[in-house]
Amino acid sequence: MSEIPFLFQADEDVDLTGVNRLGLMGGTFDPIHQGHLVTAEAARSGFNLDRVIFVPSGQPPHKSGQQITPKEKRYLMTELATVTNPFFDVSRVEVSKDGYSYSADTVRYFRRSLAAGSEIYFITGADAIMEIISWKNIDELFANCTFIAATRPGVQYRAMLEKLERQLKPAYRDKVIAIEVPAMAISSTDIRRRVAEGRTIKYLLPETVEHYIAKQGLYRV
Ligand code: ATP
Ligand code: MG
Repeated sequence: MSEIPFLFQADEDVDLTGVNRLGLMGGTFDPIHQGHLVTAEAARSGFNLDRVIFVPSGQPPHKSGQQITPKEKRYLMTELATVTNPFFDVSRVEVSKDGYSYSADTVRYFRRSLAAGSEIYFITGADAIMEIISWKNIDELFANCTFIAATRPGVQYRAMLEKLERQLKPAYRDKVIAIEVPAMAISSTDIRRRVAEGRTIKYLLPETVEHYIAKQGLYRV
């Protein structure tokens, strides 16, 4: 197992004072949208989380073939989108690292900065949890966190549970909790396509991010 030598600890990156129940929301966030925000807030309130930290990816291993916006711009959009929620924060751990980012490394990084007995909840969409089997260091990941899988339109809730049932070791099944979030058919892919086609993206994402996209000329192709 490869150890990534992080240059600093999570509590120097984001304020973890008094945090015993931590939510982590990883993503490419190209761009961040209301689907991500609603899901994170539902997990926060539903699971009594002290903080939800968004972790924009550096170079996502599963998106190596496609063109993505430079990481500092995706990081900035994530900051803009989360600033109005006092429970939300953004970590630079993945953007400040060269090369691929792996969830197991990121969760370990946060685990080391929290007190023993603290809980980490890794928040994902149902589509992401379906790929869980292919993730690196899955055993370590399950040792360090519980997953909250939000159902998303187009991904059948039952199909997700059946797949997890077939592919996950029994000991891990209890560590995946499904939650239903208000039906939100919003995706970054759709937002990028809308911008490229000159269609409106208003109300699909925070206004500040909408303005940033326009000002930077992102996704125009
Ligand atoms: P893309 O279309 O480029 O793949 P995306 O909208 O899926 O973008 P990501 O940054 O890939 O966004 O996703 C980050 C996390 O947020 C993943 O766990 C994903 O499943 C989840 N997610 C994305 N959109 C939604 C949504 N509308 N509701 C709930 N979860 C979502
Ligand atoms: Mg996605």
